[in-house]
Amino acid sequence: MTLAQRLARPEILALPPTDTAAAAGGAPIGGSIKLDANENPFVPLVGGGLAASVNRYPEPQPAALRQRLADLYGCSTAQLWATRGSDDAIDLLIRTFCRPGEDSIVIVEPTFSAYAQFARVQGAKVVPARLTDDLTFDAEAVIATCLGAKPKLLFLCTPNNPTGTPVDPADVRRIAAALPDTLVVADEAYIEFSDSPSFAGQVGGNLLVLRTLSKAYGLAGARVGCLIADPEIIELVSRVSPPYPLPSLSIALALDALAAERMPIHDQRIARLLADRNLLAERLRTVTEIRTIRTGGNFLFLEVDDPAALAQRLAAAGIRLRFRPNAAPGGVRVTVGTEAENAAMLAVFGLFEPARASRRAELVRDTKETRIAVAIDLDRPEPRCISTGIGFYDHMLDQVAAHGGFSLTLACSGDLEIDPHHSVEDIALALGAALRQALGDKRGIGRFGFALPMDEVRAEVLIDLSGRPFSKFDGHFDTPEVGGLPTQMVPHIFRSLADSMACAIHVKVEGDNDHHKVEGCFKAFGRALRMSLAIDGNATALPSTKGVL
Ligand code: PMP
Repeated sequence: MTLAQRLARPEILALPPTDTAAAAGGAPIGGSIKLDANENPFVPLVGGGLAASVNRYPEPQPAALRQRLADLYGCSTAQLWATRGSDDAIDLLIRTFCRPGEDSIVIVEPTFSAYAQFARVQGAKVVPARLTDDLTFDAEAVIATCLGAKPKLLFLCTPNNPTGTPVDPADVRRIAAALPDTLVVADEAYIEFSDSPSFAGQVGGNLLVLRTLSKAYGLAGARVGCLIADPEIIELVSRVSPPYPLPSLSIALALDALAAERMPIHDQRIARLLADRNLLAERLRTVTEIRTIRTGGNFLFLEVDDPAALAQRLAAAGIRLRFRPNAAPGGVRVTVGTEAENAAMLAVFGLFEPARASRRAELVRDTKETRIAVAIDLDRPEPRCISTGIGFYDHMLDQVAAHGGFSLTLACSGDLEIDPHHSVEDIALALGAALRQALGDKRGIGRFGFALPMDEVRAEVLIDLSGRPFSKFDGHFDTPEVGGLPTQMVPHIFRSLADSMACAIHVKVEGDNDHHKVEGCFKAFGRALRMSLAIDGNATALPSTKGVL
């Protein structure tokens, strides 16, 4: 008997295959007439394209999403079962393996409450191991508890909710090796915020992994997660799964959020949350009422002297933190929020940050021809991460950001197989819109800019962030393209930028070499932007006698 067969509830092993229309009909064939599932033929009476096919049942295991998640996590689709959040995966595992009144799970307290909750609902016993008194993970203690309890499942939450405690990967391996008759489940809900590598690419035997899109990818409301395990375990779990666990809207949202051109911005957001988390820890270390601070995931775990007094101040400020007295006396879990939310939280601890509106923008611009995601921070020079699909255009936009002195993350999936035109133009429009959004009310900016020679080339770009779109391009190119970028698109790019930024851009370029000329234009544009975007002395003054820009 295999491990999965030995451990599974006998009644699950004896289940007949799921009887759904989808299971009976096999893989969907495009264009087939579907009269097999008692669906309503009419499209739903709601607006918006996403809802278009909601009158039909979703795929029981959406093939495209399963593939995308497998690629993201580095496993095969046969090893992955998409679930309604990782909560659902925890429940499925317990119902697949634990017989009511007979079997048990081990958890390492203090930890995420759902493991024990689902086990109790199933009638399975919950045997607690514990972190040490200073909340570190003790592998020997966990192994000893499991050798006594002989659980079907051991849940290791790494990093742990709520304490942030990581489980050393070597300990995970050692525990799995020491407990061949227990399924060791590494719940990696927060692993994207940790230095530890994921086990998703190494599942097999008794080692399983849970992942979720709720945390790092910001899709808690869509409820998408997965179990990653040996295919035989996946097959058993599939018998217990509801027939259509994921709503079509959630499938579409998840695929959209995980599209290639969104990924650089996800990476940047994760890095930003981590940097903000560490900054918060540093600031909170100066607060005497906080005895200890631990970090892990996208949260901090504090131990405070007087939780009741803190609760009162939080209530008065309208801020919700999670008190976890069972984890530690005075234990409080604090999620990292936006800059403004974090500042409000710090204020409750008597820490007042100088208020500075951030000049950031993130936007997504999708059409049938291009899908673009852009993030900009006008007050940080890094990161710069640009992927337009056209190498030379990447280089030019990198020049704009580098010389402009701002961070730019931009990715595009466009119809380059037709022509670069759509991508080039739409990227300029998206970039301009993001710059405009990041500029906000424009208080304190320089407003005007100019500049620059490059070898034999003289390139001048004059900018006025006036709120009025206008563009003028004085120059010509002899060659039709430079590095895959059609030269006739260069004036067009500046026009698109002027339109979407609502500013005046005058470009004048002369010289011999077209590569130099194009590059000169972009560099000069970057330099001109730097001058016009920079906060210039008085940060509240609007550089206009009109009082509006
Ligand atoms: N595991 C851990 C450790 C969690 O903290 C959470 C949610 N707080 C989950 C799993 C469940 O997440 P979801 O169901 O949203 O995927």
